[in-house]
Amino acid sequence: MSGEKYVYDFSEGHKDLKELLGGKGANLAEMTRLGLPVPAGFTVTTEACRAYLATGSAPDELAGQIDSHLAALESTMGRHLGDPSDPLLVSVRSGAAFSMPGMMETVLNVGLNDASVAGLAAQAGGDERFAWDSYRRLVQMFGKTVCDVPGDDFSDALEEAKKTRGATNDLQLDAADLRALTERYKHIFAKHTGHEFPQEPQLQLRLAMEAVFRSWNAERAVLYRRQERIPADLGTAVNVVAMVFGNLGPDSGTGVAFTRDPATGAQGIYGDYLQNAQGEDVVAGIRNTVGLEELKELDHRSYDQLIEIMALLEGHYRDLCDIEFTIERGKLWMLQTRVGKRTAAAAFRIAAQLVTEGAIDLDEALLRVNGAQLAQLMFPRFDLAGEPAVLTSGIGASPGAAVGKVVFSAARATELAAAGEDVILVRRETNPEDLAGMIAAKGILTARGGKTSHAAVVARGMGRTCVCGADAVEISRDRFTVAGRTVAEGDVISIDGTSGRVYLGPVPVRPSEVVQYFEGEPVDSTLVEAVHTLMDHADERRRLAVRTNADTGADAARARRFGAEGIGLCRTEHMFLGDRKELVERLILAGADGDRKAALEALLPLQRADFVELFRAMDGRPVTVRLIDPPLHEFLPSLEELAVTVAVARERGEDHAEEAQLLDAVRRMHEQNPMLGLRGVRLGLVIPGLFAMQVRAIAQAAAQLAGEGLDPQPEIMVPLVGAVQELEMVRQECEHIVEEVISGTGVRVLIGTMIEVPRAALTAGQIAEAADFFSFGTNDLTQMGWGFSRDDVEGAFFWRYLELGIFGISPFESIDREGVGRLIRIATDEGRAVKPDLKIGVCGEHGGDPESVHFFHDVGLDYVSCSPFRVPVARLEAGRAAITRS
Ligand code: PEP
Ligand code: MG
Repeated sequence: MSGEKYVYDFSEGHKDLKELLGGKGANLAEMTRLGLPVPAGFTVTTEACRAYLATGSAPDELAGQIDSHLAALESTMGRHLGDPSDPLLVSVRSGAAFSMPGMMETVLNVGLNDASVAGLAAQAGGDERFAWDSYRRLVQMFGKTVCDVPGDDFSDALEEAKKTRGATNDLQLDAADLRALTERYKHIFAKHTGHEFPQEPQLQLRLAMEAVFRSWNAERAVLYRRQERIPADLGTAVNVVAMVFGNLGPDSGTGVAFTRDPATGAQGIYGDYLQNAQGEDVVAGIRNTVGLEELKELDHRSYDQLIEIMALLEGHYRDLCDIEFTIERGKLWMLQTRVGKRTAAAAFRIAAQLVTEGAIDLDEALLRVNGAQLAQLMFPRFDLAGEPAVLTSGIGASPGAAVGKVVFSAARATELAAAGEDVILVRRETNPEDLAGMIAAKGILTARGGKTSHAAVVARGMGRTCVCGADAVEISRDRFTVAGRTVAEGDVISIDGTSGRVYLGPVPVRPSEVVQYFEGEPVDSTLVEAVHTLMDHADERRRLAVRTNADTGADAARARRFGAEGIGLCRTEHMFLGDRKELVERLILAGADGDRKAALEALLPLQRADFVELFRAMDGRPVTVRLIDPPLHEFLPSLEELAVTVAVARERGEDHAEEAQLLDAVRRMHEQNPMLGLRGVRLGLVIPGLFAMQVRAIAQAAAQLAGEGLDPQPEIMVPLVGAVQELEMVRQECEHIVEEVISGTGVRVLIGTMIEVPRAALTAGQIAEAADFFSFGTNDLTQMGWGFSRDDVEGAFFWRYLELGIFGISPFESIDREGVGRLIRIATDEGRAVKPDLKIGVCGEHGGDPESVHFFHDVGLDYVSCSPFRVPVARLEAGRAAITRS
């Protein structure tokens, strides 16, 4: 588009223009507006980057706009870019709307060339060494970033120069050495590119800017965005900033600072300073930094000014800020600020502190924390008081603290776990064949792979602690070595799935104080106080109710302590395992009515007792009991094993009539695809008396408790309905029984259905006629919506889908808004069109996922239901969703 403004001087922007100017550019502009000492500069917009990436060339207007902003910059600084006698140098820095640390490129010292290097030396009081060092850095950075010259060629040349000199450290190279090194670098540059290092400063600037644009699509940046779920089409802004130097002598230096402790949230100034150095030296760790208190000794004036600026920035942003600064010959310059990253505990503490300090209100505080952070705080952690030695570290891929004996194969993991040992499965990388071992292990450690590797994805899905990509670990068959130490099978290690650290030996595990608080134990800590304040506010704000998925009284009671307002899903098939399995097997395979009746009669009192326990634990709150929904094979003997037994018996001439009859029945019922087979309502319609027995048990349990003066609120839920006729038939049968058992007790029983088959969602208007409530079974809805077998795909190939960016997160973990979410919207709208008061909830795993909770709020559901440990997370996110919306 012509007439577009692609370049903004720092004095023209502000902090809310992040999308256009990137985070760095917007905040530099904000600091400039605040009158803080920011080196002069301008920002080329993300729009220019997008145009460049789309067409392969910069928009026509850009060059002219850069020229005029550069002229303004030159006049502010009183110097011209690359002027041989008194050069202005600039840095060319990337800066996207979302922080992508170290993922994109930066070129420093643009404007230096064979002539201006002398001018720079003069500016630096005749410091030729500094000037040549700056020039060789430019050739190196420009070569690597702009022209893809292999970085190793430059580092090899540097090593060679040091060797020739007998130097151990680049500070020992003098001006002549660095001048020769610059020549060598220019030679390397010419050899790889086929042309000389560009001497024209304007050309350097243009090429550097275009290289920064291109670095948006660098492989590591693309991977990082996928992992962090940052949209791929935003582009980066480019900041062109007058260079200031922290390496001009002892009265210069560079540092980073935080307005509060980002690790704990404690109030106070924190930071590091490195004298006589540039920012990249801090990152490279060439010398040890000192605390900010020492800056006070070194340069009192700059220190005082820095403290003043930090207070001003925190007051202005009303949040923890992190800052990068440089001191050039006693003059302080602010190079960057942003609202700083922090740990989960610090996030809660800081949000509550800022409320107490009157800087923000409770709504704002609630938006500053999130459910993922709360979930992190609910994991047990290592007690590091004994300062255990870190063996190595990798990527914290799935949080938790796991201690166990090292094993190197899935088979060994299952074997030792079966013998009651805690094990950590250590693999170079995992693949689907390791699944059983991963399930058996307390934790998983891999040497390869990132947050979307097979190990990471599967471990997160299972809630197993996992550290991946610990690339210093060398694994052989029955041992691994790292940093000169050997760890053999059976040795104990401890892995921290949050920090990624690996310790040798057992580290004591400390329970979460936040969980202790939710459990109602007295805990005195600033963190718990902060959590308490914010949870209270979330409860006040949220519109979504939060229930729990629970099948036992103990789970229900815990969830209630965690704030659950009812049970959204009791999976009754879980009540038929153990020694009751045989009764169900008899029921399913019953040939004659009499056999079936006997099995049902045996099951009835057991079921009644289950419901009495559950209703008692949730007294006065709704309890949704789902009628049985097992994949049939879970209750039948294995076809293969039975076939072998019968064949062997036949061979030996032994009596096998009973087994043969059973085999026949199992064969008849065998399904190739049990998840799409005889499940849910289908089973209820095929096996007479099964649902009736359950409904009778529910009604009898409710009647019994009402008789004791309690207030049971049963809701009967029919699973896997796809057509209204299915629900109508079951409903009719239920109503008869309920009426017969509870009339006169004052108990009210609702009868509703799950919406978990796509056809149900699409015919929800009809189904609503026969339902008192809907509950979305988003696990099955995702399974059938995508055609993904929920038990197989995550372990089998999701890691590849994540790597390819087909989705950024498993749709079984976070609701797929566009597809499955659309089914949910259709069903909600059509159901409510028929019955405006239809109660609608969700009980799939998504009910406890932060992002999905926001979606369910937006759709207008009445409640979410999730596992007991996710209940606080759902409460918090439901509160946040209510605020985000208003
Ligand atoms: C669901 O499908 O989302 C659900 C809650 O039921 P289940 O996971 O038991 O199939
Ligand atoms: Mg289901």
